[in-house]
Amino acid sequence: MNANLFSRLFDGLADPAKLAIETEDGGRISYGDLIARAGRIANVLLARGVKIGDRVAAQTEKSVEALVLYLATVRMGAVYLPLNTAYTLNELDYFLTDAEPSLLVCDPARRDGLAAIAAKVGATVETLGADGQGSLTDAAATASPGFETVARAGDDLAAILYTSGTTGRSKGAMLSHDNLASNSLTLVKHWRFTDQDVLIHALPIYHTHGLFVASNVTLFARASMIFLPKFDAERIIALMSRATVLMGVPTFYTRLLQSPLLTRQTTGPMRLFISGSAPLLADTHREWAARTGHAVLERYGMTETNMNTSNPYDGVRLPGSVGPALPGVDARVVDAERGVELPRGEIGMIEVKGPNVFKGYWRMPEKTNAEFRHDGYFITGDLGKIDDNGYVYILGRGKDLVITGGFNVYPKEVESEIDALPGVVESAVIGVPHADLGEGVTAVVVRDKGASVDEAGVLNALQCQLAKFKMPKRVIFVDDLPRNTMGKVQKNLLRETYAGLYAK
Ligand code: AMP
Repeated sequence: MNANLFSRLFDGLADPAKLAIETEDGGRISYGDLIARAGRIANVLLARGVKIGDRVAAQTEKSVEALVLYLATVRMGAVYLPLNTAYTLNELDYFLTDAEPSLLVCDPARRDGLAAIAAKVGATVETLGADGQGSLTDAAATASPGFETVARAGDDLAAILYTSGTTGRSKGAMLSHDNLASNSLTLVKHWRFTDQDVLIHALPIYHTHGLFVASNVTLFARASMIFLPKFDAERIIALMSRATVLMGVPTFYTRLLQSPLLTRQTTGPMRLFISGSAPLLADTHREWAARTGHAVLERYGMTETNMNTSNPYDGVRLPGSVGPALPGVDARVVDAERGVELPRGEIGMIEVKGPNVFKGYWRMPEKTNAEFRHDGYFITGDLGKIDDNGYVYILGRGKDLVITGGFNVYPKEVESEIDALPGVVESAVIGVPHADLGEGVTAVVVRDKGASVDEAGVLNALQCQLAKFKMPKRVIFVDDLPRNTMGKVQKNLLRETYAGLYAK
């Protein structure tokens, strides 16, 4: 059997006329069209000299053609390397020098700026704009749609995705055909996807969430997706009348909740709301359930591992928990220093093992070695615990742990208490250099509009809830927490901003 992800996705296609993708401008792309378009682009890649195992880097706006480029790259046995559209030329220099792609596809407006970097690594440049037009699609228009999918082994690489790299250099996570196929097939079953599903796809496609979870799961199920260029609350609510599933980051849900149009009635036709990539506040979960009657299904994954855990389809979707490990995935919590598994309920490092876990970091064998245990578990870098029913709770990244006066403070424990206070929207707890304590626990808090809660009020309320060493030394109020495009709070930026807070 050809283990190429493209073959696994499409070889058994029964109905080429089945709708795969709809676009906002009325475009309707069937499965048959999608395969033919991927054939044309694969022929263009071949003509440009791309060989099996070569990297095809793409910094392109979201479009059907950009998704087709991903499928075509995988189909011809090359390795797809999507790049965040926000990256600057300076950042792209690092990624392209590291990955040495043989082809780079970029927005027409970036072509000149990228020419020198592409020349340095010997990459050919093609263009593809947000409207799906460019030299790549011009060439595809006259290329043949027929293409024999290249045979690949399960362990061969299908994609490299760079991690967001909030500390140190960003690393290229190498994902195999098996990694991607196995995880998507597990999710299709777990989330009960069928060919009747219609997904509202409003995520970017340079990240694992929008590219692999949303797109691959839809395509494996022969479902269809409505491709939106970006998040738009009113548009999404309007589409709910004829869609069945939404996948989003937590900020999608908080923003949708701000719309008076979000009601039991408007969400009625939908069967599933999925959240991931950052923690969904338990409050948001409850508010969503109260307003719509739907329990958001929260799952947990990362670039390196695809999805690891998910709340159940049937059964309890616990607010604040990311659910049990997915079928075929093993998750454990260990004492980070000794690497010894901890009893249920104790907090430590979350480690995972399974067919979903990546092949290592591109050209960083030492980094790869350091992140895997001898028994094959990957050290996620996330701190958490697993309860008696196997539900996993995430307490934050290991690097965000605050060590104050020799005690460990897990930010999430303090954040949950602060978030529960009246007048508080959300909070981020960070460690800031402190002469006596090493780090001082510091809370950065967003208030409800017009709420009068102040520093003394927060500290007073926390006093009976938290041990003294966990108490924030300072509470700072801000309008918004800094977030990246996937909705993750950028604690590194907060630590920089408040670095001098306790300086004498
Ligand atoms: P990325 O590689 O960009 O997908 O980021 C992965 C990281 O996002 C994980 O290691 C977690 O720290 C975080 N993450 C993903 N999903 C969740 C979730 N449901 N709850 C809390 N954190 C999450």
